[in-house]
Amino acid sequence: MTKEERVELADLLFPNLEHDRDYYEKLYPERNLKEGAMVTRYAPSPTGNVHLGNLLSAFADMVYARQSGGSFFLRIEDTDQKRMIEGGIENITGVLHDFDILPNEGYSFGGDYAPYIQSERTEIYQTYVKDLIVQGYAYPCFMTEEEIEAIREEQEINKTKIGIYGVYAVDRDLSLEEVKEKLANHEEYVIRLKSPGDGNKEIEVIDCIKGKMKFPEHNVDTVLLKKDGTPTYHLAHAIDDHLMHTTHVIRGDEWVSSLPLHIQLFELLGFQPVQYVHIAPITIKDQETGNIRKISKRKDPWFGVAYYDENGIPIEALHLYLATITNTNFEEWYLNNPDKTIFDFTFSFDKQAVGGTSFDEAKLTNLCKTYFSRKSGEEVYEETLSWALKHDSEYAELLLGNKEAMIQFLSIEKDGPRPRKDISKYSEVKEEFSYAIDSLFEKEHYAKNESEKEYDVDLIFDYVEHYLNLDVDNETWFNTVKEFALKNGYAASPKDYKNDPDSYKGHVGDVCEALRVMITGRLKSPDLFSIMKILGKDKVLKRIEFYQNR
Ligand code: GLU
Repeated sequence: MTKEERVELADLLFPNLEHDRDYYEKLYPERNLKEGAMVTRYAPSPTGNVHLGNLLSAFADMVYARQSGGSFFLRIEDTDQKRMIEGGIENITGVLHDFDILPNEGYSFGGDYAPYIQSERTEIYQTYVKDLIVQGYAYPCFMTEEEIEAIREEQEINKTKIGIYGVYAVDRDLSLEEVKEKLANHEEYVIRLKSPGDGNKEIEVIDCIKGKMKFPEHNVDTVLLKKDGTPTYHLAHAIDDHLMHTTHVIRGDEWVSSLPLHIQLFELLGFQPVQYVHIAPITIKDQETGNIRKISKRKDPWFGVAYYDENGIPIEALHLYLATITNTNFEEWYLNNPDKTIFDFTFSFDKQAVGGTSFDEAKLTNLCKTYFSRKSGEEVYEETLSWALKHDSEYAELLLGNKEAMIQFLSIEKDGPRPRKDISKYSEVKEEFSYAIDSLFEKEHYAKNESEKEYDVDLIFDYVEHYLNLDVDNETWFNTVKEFALKNGYAASPKDYKNDPDSYKGHVGDVCEALRVMITGRLKSPDLFSIMKILGKDKVLKRIEFYQNR
């Protein structure tokens, strides 16, 4: 076709478009950002619920945009209406809110590049496709589904590349008259790319994580607009990333194989290229086989995001975990910088693992413990209360009724360079601190008594009644326990006992163990003297009685 014929064809196919390309280029001008600012986007399709892999890429979008003074936006890619799930869009925005991965603009957040949902941008896509037709880079294709299927079968038998290209692209060179005739016959059509690529030539792409990659040029006449005039993802994302001035496309690496097409589309549409950042998927070491495998929704509950809230994993701790996946040097930095937050760290693409990162529950737990250890007793109380209000209303009541004491218990061993590291989830506070609330202690404690031993109640009663002074410092207290132990036939230190086991019933540690079990129901607890101070002597005595009568 001549240029004039292509213009005529374009007008014939798109008679009602209100604007031209220039209009949209002006409507969505360059962003006014400082040099080096990154514009990133989370561009999910509402075809399934958000999972940990999605959160990881949205998290990366957020931190890179934020640290560079750029913008992170949310774009809903709902081009595949057939695969949309009910509530899919609400799930996306809800999860971003719940997990505090908040875009600074985008669908439901607003911004200058709206609409941020592809189903409301059809005219824009058509406008650019119309222009591609004029330039000879796109054409209407009237092939039926049966014809295409027959070609695919033939290609499968011949083991050649699947798709409409070369000899298979029968409508590529239809004359204007032929197209008009088919249109007059109401034949359905899609608009295909007229790919100028040569499959024998190579292109080179530099990915910010994966480095230099080589691919054969794209040479398939991929569908750009479907029969109903709506775009395919490939076309829509290219136009959107151009008009929304994305600088870095951060996404899952299942899109790597589409890069030759995407790069070709950018070129043919006359767009500035973007930088690509393809993130490898999270994998898992299979419990049964020991092999690294893909994550599975069925086998790996942590892959769904509901898991974190249900189990009481703090959002900020999950952020820490996502940060360790995003940059391999993050964890060490975080552990060495107790007073810093994620946003003090400088993330960089070259510290991102090229291969898949394996989900590491132990690491997540450890980060959670570090997170809790850095929070004050009051913060842990407030956060646990919010969690309990949602998931354990009975416990929430107890927390509300015992606020002051609870904060005191949660504040034990918080000062100093090595704060207590025990809790890893909100859901563990109830059990770990069951001794902090009388009714819980009474209900749960002896059923769960961790020790099998029978302890000498008279001995401990005697100690508490006659020797326990709660108004001294920790060292003085421990000295009196030692004295008491010695007086009652226990060595003052484990070492003394070890040197002469026949002369003693045990050592001071055994006395403390008995005291601890009677008071807390546990073999391990935060500093025992601090616990007793908060309880007061009367309660301590009552607990010993309780132990005796259990
Ligand atoms: N809508 C695509 C998806 O959900 C996103 C791909 C991209 O980020 O470019 O997989």
